[in-house]
Amino acid sequence: MERTHENGTLRKENAGQTVTVVGWVNKRRNLGSLVFIDLRDRSGIVQITFDETMASQVQEVRNEYILQVTGTVQMRSNPNPNMATGEIEILAQKVTIVNRAETAPIVIADDSDTGEDTRLKYRYLDLRRPVLQKNMILRHKICMIARQVLDEKGFIEIETPILARSTPEGARDYLVPSRIYNGKFWALPQSPQIYKQLLMIAGMEKYFQIARCFRDEDLRADRQPEFTQIDIEMSFGDENTVFGVVEDLMKAIFKGTVGYDLEDHFVRMPWEECMRRYGTDKPDLRFGNEIIDLSGLFADTEFQVFRSVLDAKGIIGCVKFSNAADQYSRKGLDKLQDFVKHGFKAKALAYLKMENGTLTGSIAKPLSDAEKAAVCDKLQLQDNDLVLVIADTPRIVQSALGALRVRLGHELNLIDESVYKFLWVTDFPMFEYSEEENRWVAAHHPFTAPKEEDVDKLFSDPEHVSSRAYDLVLNGYELLSGSIRIHDQELQEKVFEAIGLTMEKARERFGFFLDAFRYGTPPHGGVGIGLERLTMVLAGTDNIRDVVAFPTTNSSLDLMSESPNVVDQAQLDILGISIK
Ligand code: ASP
Repeated sequence: MERTHENGTLRKENAGQTVTVVGWVNKRRNLGSLVFIDLRDRSGIVQITFDETMASQVQEVRNEYILQVTGTVQMRSNPNPNMATGEIEILAQKVTIVNRAETAPIVIADDSDTGEDTRLKYRYLDLRRPVLQKNMILRHKICMIARQVLDEKGFIEIETPILARSTPEGARDYLVPSRIYNGKFWALPQSPQIYKQLLMIAGMEKYFQIARCFRDEDLRADRQPEFTQIDIEMSFGDENTVFGVVEDLMKAIFKGTVGYDLEDHFVRMPWEECMRRYGTDKPDLRFGNEIIDLSGLFADTEFQVFRSVLDAKGIIGCVKFSNAADQYSRKGLDKLQDFVKHGFKAKALAYLKMENGTLTGSIAKPLSDAEKAAVCDKLQLQDNDLVLVIADTPRIVQSALGALRVRLGHELNLIDESVYKFLWVTDFPMFEYSEEENRWVAAHHPFTAPKEEDVDKLFSDPEHVSSRAYDLVLNGYELLSGSIRIHDQELQEKVFEAIGLTMEKARERFGFFLDAFRYGTPPHGGVGIGLERLTMVLAGTDNIRDVVAFPTTNSSLDLMSESPNVVDQAQLDILGISIK
């Protein structure tokens, strides 16, 4: 089909040229005897004018018809500054109706007001919206840059099985029944973790894969049951080697997509410090307002609430917001109170305000003058400052204040939306206690190496074993996780034991993997970068469905193909499955 130009690329430099364009009708307007049609292709939209002699040929044309138009590019008498092609238009000389379209069930426009469920049902039409096309192109670009950078660094892309044994990442597996071996199942990979480690044992040294991962979890807003990782593993390096590769990769991606220059090396912070200062393992570093521990000021307090918290080994923490006291009335503060009580199990939220040189607020009365002076001094309080205070267990104080910090950061517009702040969080705890299972479980996955100096605490003090796991955080999002792995069979067996996995059970689940360790396993480590998260950040959207071509709803339904769905009895019979 003849086509000389892409619609969105035409500019005033093309004026006078005869061009042939194709595309979908985005909008049509009649003006007296003239017809104007905005014609859309993937590159953008251009206005086409049909004069008296041509108008009759587009009489029947409606939105989403496909046209091929030949005409002359001319300057517009009324330029449209909101359109990339707004200075010009095409005066049509020839038009072919390539295909007709029924009235679309959704509004195809960036600011479409059609509900999301309907748009997902007609996703192929929804994907015609320029914003989604832009996101798909962005995602593609990220992958292209990743492939190029990693190739240059000597990484090779290797595909690993989708039909596989279960890989433990802490989620539920999607299972696939075997036809040939009735009663046996594959698990879709939660990540290629075991395979990429086997590739290191296999001597591949540097591996990557743009890998699909599957996790059967209850979905949250930024999750999908299947998602993609830029999955990387390398031998003979340590944290510095892995971080260097990822930093170079991020620099190339940010430069190549949004033209942003990242700093050479990203800040690093141990998990413990991160929790203490920001109350979360994914802090948004675009603004300050760190958590400050006031416990020391109240060692001898007679204020009963603080006294009992401190006696019970709790802490008193606060976050200060400068010049914000007048923005939070009683009602506003009550809302924050509810937020920390219900969301974070905090017993209460107290506050102090500096008003005309005097400290007021919910705990101004019970505190002694000396204590108030000490607080003012420590926090360097000025007029109109607001201080939110929580006294509770360290975990509750941190998580509640961390969440308040982010909430007020948004409410008070403290966040500079134009910057990207990366942070490596290191030294994660090796284990988490699972109340549900009544045992310690691996906080990352069970192949993560403990810090060497903590190995002797594996059984005696599992709570305080740090691991060589790390996350990369960007503007409050966890962008990737990874770790240096265990490469020693004995240590691997000990870690299994520490999480209550008997050798028998471990053998049953990944005996093949344990066996492989016996034949010369190189030290190795890697990361899995969440491609959707990365694309979301670069696209500036909070909705993961904006960066996935065919996403599911939050309840894991594909509304377009209506899956999951029932299958024929015959198919079940072949698989030896009967539905309860
Ligand atoms: N497999 C890990 C994950 O999916 C990433 C890694 O450790 O490389 O989180």
